Amino acid sequence: MTKETIKSTSDTLKTGDSFHFNCRKELACFNRCCRDINLYLTPYDILRIKKRLTMHSAEFLRTYTIPLFPEEIGHPVIVLKMIPDETKNCPFVSDDGCLIYEDRPWSCRSFPLEPVPGAEPEFSLVKRDFCLGFGMGKEHSVKKWRDTQNIAFYEEINDEWKEITHHNHFPSKNFLEGKARDIFFIGSYNIDEFRDIVSKSDFLKYYDVDKKVLKKIKSNETELLRFAFKWMRTVLFGEATLKRK
Ligand code: SF4
Ligand code: SF4
Repeated sequence: MTKETIKSTSDTLKTGDSFHFNCRKELACFNRCCRDINLYLTPYDILRIKKRLTMHSAEFLRTYTIPLFPEEIGHPVIVLKMIPDETKNCPFVSDDGCLIYEDRPWSCRSFPLEPVPGAEPEFSLVKRDFCLGFGMGKEHSVKKWRDTQNIAFYEEINDEWKEITHHNHFPSKNFLEGKARDIFFIGSYNIDEFRDIVSKSDFLKYYDVDKKVLKKIKSNETELLRFAFKWMRTVLFGEATLKRK
């Protein structure tokens, strides 16, 4: 969603429907969609981008993001910091387009399709008034568009995270205070700090983690993130997603 007053219209599409869209450098609107936006990052978005930039997750968060604590949501959310000058550009946009294209966030990959909440698999085809790519070029099926952008995998990881953020403990406004908020923040957004907790603290004295699982989370950051979600469910909600010793 853009912060300026930008008009959007949308059509609702189903997986089998199609749309005409052709985003390309020659259009006058090229890169217009990559500035002055509220771009929320999911845990998996953060993992992909910090890895792409070969940064520690804490450094990435400090440099490129703003944490927000909206009471109505009940947990911290992370927004990408736009460049603080008159352009208000995304820090990853260049004259040739997105510098992190293969690892760009879910919402950038999904555009111009947005899932209709509660009506999946229905999608809004979001048409910003400045975007000139609609109604021209190749016809894309919704299914193929989502497949080529690898959206399903992003959503699979996000659905696992939603089992935490949509947990029935969350309606309580003050549920995430102090230590609980820190745990949520580390387990969701600061994967390198979570890795240190597992490998350098007494973590393995308290949790019985199978050797195969340990090997997997050491070699695969996505699996480490999934493991962090399990840790949060155990610590925050008392669920038996991790076995205590
Ligand atoms: S066509 Fe739309 S999506 Fe592509 S650069 Fe222009 S505004 Fe952005
Ligand atoms: S991450 Fe890439 S695609 Fe997304 S807003 Fe920034 S430059 Fe544009």
